[in-house]
Amino acid sequence: MRTPETDLVQAGAKLQSLGFSPGASGNISVRDGDRVLITPTGYGLGGLDPDRLSVVDLAGRHISGPRPSKEFPLHTAFYRRDPTAGAVVHLHSRHAAAVSCRPGWSERSAIPPLTPYFVMRVGQTPLIPYAAPGDPGQAAGLEALPFPFRAALLANHGPVVAGADLAAAVDAATELEEVCALLLLLGESGQRLLTAPDIEELTTRYGSFWDLDA
Ligand SMILES: [Zn+2]
Repeated sequence: MRTPETDLVQAGAKLQSLGFSPGASGNISVRDGDRVLITPTGYGLGGLDPDRLSVVDLAGRHISGPRPSKEFPLHTAFYRRDPTAGAVVHLHSRHAAAVSCRPGWSERSAIPPLTPYFVMRVGQTPLIPYAAPGDPGQAAGLEALPFPFRAALLANHGPVVAGADLAAAVDAATELEEVCALLLLLGESGQRLLTAPDIEELTTRYGSFWDLDA
């Protein structure tokens, strides 16, 4: 039988198989009403047990199960700021982590509008100033940003991506990893970007976010 617990275990295995969570890195969560199921601290995404997942509430209080990943404040911050977020994925995927070590492209996006799939499925992706992993101040900063977004890059660390459900969050994290790989592949050479009318057409049609003035 499919449950939020088995969905989380399957998503973890998929992300691990894609190579997006080296070592024991990465943490993922799914919202189930007013509680959040999240990966426990110290576990890699490839070996999760549906009977040993952590449960916290939206305020971040530990409700049951083993101790949650220390990066849980990022997850609850996303859920509190966006009621449409049903799942959150935080990874140390290689290309997105590399781009997170660069200056942002614009005030509101770490990454330029290179491909339509990035604009449609991920949208503007702010660069969040560096803090040590698990720093609650960094999560509070993310929560307070006064513009909409569904993904962010934590500086010198990696991506955090929300979706309506786990499948959508995993797809968006994959798209984000891909556009970051393209950005690095292009290097310092010139790049043609999508134009403002291109972006407007995509965000209108697919409901993603991109502020053309920032
Ligand atoms: Zn991390």
